[in-house]
Amino acid sequence: MTTSTEIGHIAELHVAIAAVREAALLCGGVHACRAVQKTDRSPVTVADFGSQALICRRIRAAFPADPIVAEEDSTLLRGREHASVRDQVVEHVERLQPGSSADDVLDWVDIGCHEGSSGRFWAVDPLDGTKGFLRGGHYAVAIALVVDGRAIVAALACPHIAFDSYSPGSIFAATRGGGASWLSLKRTTPARRISTSQVDTPSTARFCESVESMHSSHELASAVAHHLGLYKAPVRLDSQAKYAVVASGQADIYFRLPTRPGYRERIWDHVPGSLITEEAGGRVTDISGKPLELTHGKALDANRGVVATNGHLHNAVLDAIAAVVSS
Ligand code: AMP
Ligand code: MG
Repeated sequence: MTTSTEIGHIAELHVAIAAVREAALLCGGVHACRAVQKTDRSPVTVADFGSQALICRRIRAAFPADPIVAEEDSTLLRGREHASVRDQVVEHVERLQPGSSADDVLDWVDIGCHEGSSGRFWAVDPLDGTKGFLRGGHYAVAIALVVDGRAIVAALACPHIAFDSYSPGSIFAATRGGGASWLSLKRTTPARRISTSQVDTPSTARFCESVESMHSSHELASAVAHHLGLYKAPVRLDSQAKYAVVASGQADIYFRLPTRPGYRERIWDHVPGSLITEEAGGRVTDISGKPLELTHGKALDANRGVVATNGHLHNAVLDAIAAVVSS
C-alpha cells in the first residue's frame, strides 16, 4: 500500500538517491588519498569534502529553504596549509559538475553548517567510515531528511556491498511508512524490497559491530553475546553498512556499545541507517531501549549507544545489555 507519507516525500527520496549516487561516484574515484587530521584528531579526506560539496549543491538546488546538518565544514580547506587538498577537492567535484569553481565548492561544503534540532532539516554524512575508506574497507554516503524530530526519508550508498554480480555497490533507501529498498549503485537493475530476518532465537543470531573498538566496545559486546548465548563470531564492518546488513537480513543485530561515558553519538551516523532498518521491519533504540531523539542538534544527547535488531530479538538483547551492565 502506498501511504500519504510516501507520496508526500517522493521528490525528496529521488534527490537523496541521486545525491548519494553522485557522491559515491566521487568517493570511488579518489585513489591513494592521504588523510588530514581534524581538530578532534579524526581523519578527513579529499573524498569527504568533495562528497559533501556535491550533496549540499544538489539538496540546495532542489529544496532551497532546507537547512543541512553535515559532518564537515570548509575551514581546513580555506587555510594555506591544505591548499593542495583544496585543489584536489575542486578537481574531483569539477569532473562531475563541470565549471565548478573553488569558491563554489567551498560554499557548497558550508551549506552543511546548520545546527539542526527542530523543524525540517537534512542530516548528511558525506563519507561515513572514513577509517574504513582509508583501509579499503566498507564506507557509506548517508543522507536523511528529518521533520519535527522524525526521520522521513533516507538514502545510503554502500559502494562495497554488492548488489549483484554486475554491480559491486548498492544503495539502500527508505521513506517512513513506505518500506525499504535495495538498489544497484550502477542503476542497471530495478530496486528490490528488503526486510529484516525472521531469526528469533539468540543462539543462532549473527551480530555486527564497528571495526574500531574505540567507536563501539568489543569487550562489552562479547560479554552481551555470551550472556545471550550467541555463538557466532561478530562481523566487523565500518560505517552504516551495518544498518544495511541488518535491514537486508544478512545480520540480525548491530551493537554500538559506548566506549566512554562522555561520547554522544552524531545524528548523521545513525539517522539514515536507522530509518532503513526500521522500514525493513527492524527496531532501533539506544542501549536502554529509548528511541533515538533527533531534536538535540548534531548529537544524540538523550541517548547512549545504539542497538539495531531485526525486531524479534530486540527485547532479549536489551535485557542482556542491562544484565551485563549492572553486573
Ligand atoms: P564506524 O564506522 O561504525 O566505526 O563509525 C564511524 C563513526 O564513528 C564516525 O563517523 C564518527 O562520527 C564516530 N565516532 C567517533 N568516535 C566515536 C566514539 N568514541 N564512539 C562512537 N562513535 C564514534
Ligand atoms: Mg560517520
